[in-house]
Amino acid sequence: MSRSAIWHPFTQHGLCEPIPLVTHAEGARLHTSDGRRVIDAISSWWVTTHGHCHPRIMAAIAEQAGKLDQLIFAGWTHEPAEAVAAGLTAIMPPELTRVFFSDSGSTSVEVALKMALGYWHARGQARHRIVVMEHSYHGDTIGAMSVGERGVFNQPYQPLLFDVGRIPFPRAGAEQATLDALEALCRAGDAAALIVEPLVLGAGGMLVYKLETLRAMREICAAHGVLFIADEVMTGWGRTGTLLACEQAGVVPDILCLSKGLTGGALPLAVTMAIEPVFEAHWSTDRARMFFHSSSYTANPLACAAAAANLAIWAEEPVMECVTDLAARQSGWLEKLGRFCHFENPRVLGTIAALDIRTRGEGGYMDGLAPQLMAFFRARDVLLRPLGNTVYVMPPYCITDDQLDEVWNAIGEAVITF
Ligand SMILES: *Cc1c(COP(=O)(O)O)cnc(C)c1O
Repeated sequence: MSRSAIWHPFTQHGLCEPIPLVTHAEGARLHTSDGRRVIDAISSWWVTTHGHCHPRIMAAIAEQAGKLDQLIFAGWTHEPAEAVAAGLTAIMPPELTRVFFSDSGSTSVEVALKMALGYWHARGQARHRIVVMEHSYHGDTIGAMSVGERGVFNQPYQPLLFDVGRIPFPRAGAEQATLDALEALCRAGDAAALIVEPLVLGAGGMLVYKLETLRAMREICAAHGVLFIADEVMTGWGRTGTLLACEQAGVVPDILCLSKGLTGGALPLAVTMAIEPVFEAHWSTDRARMFFHSSSYTANPLACAAAAANLAIWAEEPVMECVTDLAARQSGWLEKLGRFCHFENPRVLGTIAALDIRTRGEGGYMDGLAPQLMAFFRARDVLLRPLGNTVYVMPPYCITDDQLDEVWNAIGEAVITF
């Protein structure tokens, strides 16, 4: 067992999982201190879009490091933040006129919730209820957990999580039940906002739903004046085949959360973008009505320089072609393996491909198969982290044909083994 003092996230130290030490990386490849070359098939937890150590992003960070490391962002600004804000408002839906910085997906969600509640507070309306979707994941801070699925992950904290309105996940064929539940919660009159992961619920098991349902949910919210918050922390930056997942449904949210791929996956940074009325609700000559939210590293210049480089890459390099090409390769593999009787529910959305392994266990996140599978893949130098009995592949867009073949061959082998 390692003698390190580090307490790792989502890791049961009592099971003595080996903790590989990674020394360097490039593209989709990680190198460990014991000389292994591992394929990062989950983009280091869904963040790495263009591949590890993209030269333009690394150069931008290095250049910024020579100029300005950190700056208080309350009442001060700097070039990289201005570049990111200008770049985002240029490529995101024009209705989203305001950019609020924070440092992780969870905090971007907390900010979105506080913006929504502040909006209704300023309008003098008693709307406090947040409506959420079953199986959602929005992060691990208390507010983000409150609007996410309740379960083994947050059992000890449940008494502190706030009440929400819940709509069922729109399973194929049962979409109307979701829409009816949303309509009823909106009619109740106390709904402030709906928060959803557009088109695919990530941590909930890569559950996909129809774009028509996303559009219908958006329309119901609009009809009742309920704010629509799109958590695109995972789905943004091409993951689902378009820059935003919302785009596929022609949906423009009132509030948009972005993180993970915002810096290409190089440094922690997030933004919450908002429509003008949400900003205006906080605009006043009264100091008591300002938006009371900040963290020390809000809009850190190094992280913003990485994000500005990411925006330049999107503007100047054929990123969408890589995404489309990867999506086609993922579909091909899913078609090939999805026919095995060991698998069920093969699904693909852009660069994300997932399938469930038939299990004798309980299914779901705590299914005993997951740690066995993880160890199996680790032994084959493939970094995959199944969600219970759901195996998914979500690689950096630059993954080569050979590397992707290795990943899927390992999955094929795994189901024969278990
Ligand atoms: C990962 C994720 C978050 C949380 O982001 P962190 O940066 O890990 O705090 C929020 N929402 C969704 C949809 C995510 O996938």
